Amino acid sequence: TLQVALAFALMSSLYGDFMQAVGASTRIFELMDRTPKVSNENGKKLSELDGRIEFKAVDFTYPSRPDTKVIKNFSLTVEPGEMVALVGPSGGGKSTIVNLIERFYDPDQGNITLGGHNLRELDPQWFRQRIAMVSQEPTLFACSIRDNIAYGRQATMEEVMEAAKEANAHEFVSGFEDGYDTLVGERGVRLSGGQKQRIAIARALIMDPVILLLDEATSALDAESEHQVQEAVDRAMKKRTVVVIAHRLSTVRKAGKVVVIDKGEIAEQGTHDELLARDGVYKKLVHRQMMAGFSADTNAVKVDTS
Ligand code: ATP
Repeated sequence: TLQVALAFALMSSLYGDFMQAVGASTRIFELMDRTPKVSNENGKKLSELDGRIEFKAVDFTYPSRPDTKVIKNFSLTVEPGEMVALVGPSGGGKSTIVNLIERFYDPDQGNITLGGHNLRELDPQWFRQRIAMVSQEPTLFACSIRDNIAYGRQATMEEVMEAAKEANAHEFVSGFEDGYDTLVGERGVRLSGGQKQRIAIARALIMDPVILLLDEATSALDAESEHQVQEAVDRAMKKRTVVVIAHRLSTVRKAGKVVVIDKGEIAEQGTHDELLARDGVYKKLVHRQMMAGFSADTNAVKVDTS
C-alpha cells in the first residue's frame, strides 16, 4: 500500500509539474522526455558496483529535439571515491550528463560504463538503487516525513532517524507535533527550501549509494539553513563517487577535478587552482561571478549563471 501511495503521490506531483509546464510549451517536451526511454530486459545485476564512471566519446541528442546535438564527443573518467564538479554556462549540458549517468537516455554514439560495465548491459532498476540524486528542488511526496525519507524501502524507524540525523533533519522534524508522522505537501506542513533538501539528503543516505549525484542549489538559503545543508552534503559525499553540478566556490575548491562544460563539450578540466592558473574559460566564469556581486556570502559565490 505504501508503494501505491507513493505512486499516487508521484503521479499527482508530476501532474503539478505538467500544469506548470502548460504555460511554457517547450517545457512539455522536456517533461515528456523524462520518462525513461530505455529497456531493462536481461540487464545484469552484479554482486557489487565500484563507483567508476566513464564516458567514452559520447554524443547525445534529446529525442524531442532531433536537430540539436546536446552532448558532443564527451569523454570523462570519474574514479571511485572521486568528487567531480561540473560547471559551465547555462544550457551547456551539465544536467544532461547527470541524466545520462542514471540512464534516463542512451547515447547516440559512444558509451557510458559504471564500474567497467556498459550501462546498457546493467539492470537499470538494480544500478539506480546504487545511485542517489539530490536535486536543487527535491520532490517531496504528499505523505509523512518518514515515508518521504524511506522512499518505498523497508527501512526501520531507527534507520530513518539515523539518516535524518546525518542529514541535519532530525532536529527540525522532532520539533513538529507529529514528528516523523508529520505530513508534507499541500495538506501538510510547508517546509523551507533548506528543510526539503535535508529530507532529500536523508533519503539519499538511507540508500547508502555508491554514487551520489548532486545538483547544488542556486537560490540563496538563509545562512543557518545554508550551513546545515552544507554540513549534511559534506557527510553524504564521504567515501562515495560524487558528481556535483556546482554553483559554489567552496564546492569547486573541494573537487578533485573540475570539468567546464560548454555547448556540450568539455572546454577545460583540472583542479580549481590549475584552471585559474590557465587563464581560460573557467577563470572568466569565476571572475564574472565574483564581479556580479555575490559578496554578501563569499561561500556562495556562484560559478555558473549566464
Ligand atoms: P543549467 O545550468 O541551466 O541547468 P545545463 O548545463 O544543465 O544548464 P542542460 O539542462 O543539460 O544544461 O541542457 C543542455 C541543452 O539541452 C539545452 O540546450 C537545453 O535546452 C536542452 N535540453 C535539456 N533538457 C532537454 C529535454 N528534456 N528535451 C530537449 N532538450 C533539452
